[in-house]
Amino acid sequence: MRISAKDLGWLAVDDFCPRCFWIERHANGLPYQMGFPGIFSSIDAYTKNIVERYVKNNKELPKWLSSIGDIKRIISIKPSEFKTERGGVTLSGMPDLMFERHDGSFAIVDYKTAKYTGNQDALMPVYQIQLNGYAYIAEAIGYRPVRDLYLVYFEPPYRETYDAITDGHTNEDGFDMPFKPVIHRIKKDTAEIDVLLGKASRTYELSRPPTGLAGCKDCKRLEDLICIVSNGS
Ligand code: SF4
Repeated sequence: MRISAKDLGWLAVDDFCPRCFWIERHANGLPYQMGFPGIFSSIDAYTKNIVERYVKNNKELPKWLSSIGDIKRIISIKPSEFKTERGGVTLSGMPDLMFERHDGSFAIVDYKTAKYTGNQDALMPVYQIQLNGYAYIAEAIGYRPVRDLYLVYFEPPYRETYDAITDGHTNEDGFDMPFKPVIHRIKKDTAEIDVLLGKASRTYELSRPPTGLAGCKDCKRLEDLICIVSNGS
């Protein structure tokens, strides 16, 4: 089985449903699934390009990332090579930015286009595992030690800040949108990765889907849907 570091993070949340996980991993695609909005991948790709170009030209991080510390070189690695295998499970993924510091340690950064809400963010446990999953892979393939993990949120302007946006953001070709970066440090602790990989493997290997979450209405709706289709055919 193959699982991304981000998907592994879902196994760490309180309301993780092993049934949903099993079905998703065994089904050849699920109905009514909405794809990831293309605008976010465009913003991520643009941000990566901006940072990489700045580091190449200036040998340092952009000012708005400088509190992250020094940088010796950006690590460029093919997504197909950023993976490791444990107990029959391949853990994969691709950090938005991985770099080496002058002391030989490594740092990993992931970008999020969202408002920063700190530990109030319901997705924070997922992100903690995602970043530590990247660290786990990086160290397994030789980039060690990984010492620092960061989330960088890029907050779009909110209504209350519109008045402060100057005409400088408008030009003949269109306009640009300023994003405010907010840096959140994640504790490096890869101990849980092995535990979650084991949990993922055991759940996946079950011969039948396990019991779902008590009280979840969606499974009932699904049964009703199947009933309607069966009775109608
Ligand atoms: S109980 Fe809910 S979360 Fe679990 S499989 Fe059913 S629909 Fe999915």
